Amino acid sequence: MRDALVDLVLGSCCVGCGRAGRLLCGGCRAGLPHRGRSCPPTPCPAGLAAPWCAAEYADTVRRMVLAHKERACHGLARPLGELLAVAVEAAAGPGPRPGPVVLVPVPSHPTVVRTRGHDPLLRLTRAAAVTLRRRGVAAAVRPLLRAHARPRDQAGLDAVARAANLRDAFAVRPAAGLAAGLASGPAVGGPLLVVDDVLTTGATAREAQRALERAGVPVDAVAVVAATTRRLPPGHLRSRHDVDDRVPWTVAEV
Ligand SMILES: [Zn+2]
Repeated sequence: MRDALVDLVLGSCCVGCGRAGRLLCGGCRAGLPHRGRSCPPTPCPAGLAAPWCAAEYADTVRRMVLAHKERACHGLARPLGELLAVAVEAAAGPGPRPGPVVLVPVPSHPTVVRTRGHDPLLRLTRAAAVTLRRRGVAAAVRPLLRAHARPRDQAGLDAVARAANLRDAFAVRPAAGLAAGLASGPAVGGPLLVVDDVLTTGATAREAQRALERAGVPVDAVAVVAATTRRLPPGHLRSRHDVDDRVPWTVAEV
């Protein structure tokens, strides 16, 4: 009844089952994972910090990610943040910890943020931090990275060239941002995690990690909402949104 009323007012339906009402009905929400798991991609990029996820990138979770990202369904930020928090807790391991868990989101390219009108990963990372604090886990969001403005199309590049193209995709923000994030305040001492919504090949998370390490910031683990478990052959992606679109030139390849 309440869902029907919400639907009447908002005209929404559950992304999981299509039931009229909330963006995510109680049943679908209750069915979301509550335990994180290790999710190394196959093959795994050399040197990738241990990746952890809450869910497989499929079904309800996949639809949540896409609706939040592409249709700006902000009401899904909280349940997605809860999933990310599950992965973060698994990645950070049991306490006590020397400081807050530091969450560094993989940055979206400014062009992508402008096109969408919002930064979905930053929003759900903040939601994850709120969830963690509610559970008694100190957490800090530190958007230390930025995406370089280098709109180079991946199309036509072989695997080696693509890896090289991604290699400098990210950089640590100017010194002021780093100082504000790590050299002072409550972030010192806690495990530092690169966070993202979806892990596919791991290449993007690896490059984010590389940018941080290049600036002298060690990365302890990677935490994502969901990870793919099956490799789709090139040209058989179900949706262009299924590819990593942190940077526009990876969108252009499909
Ligand atoms: Zn549902």
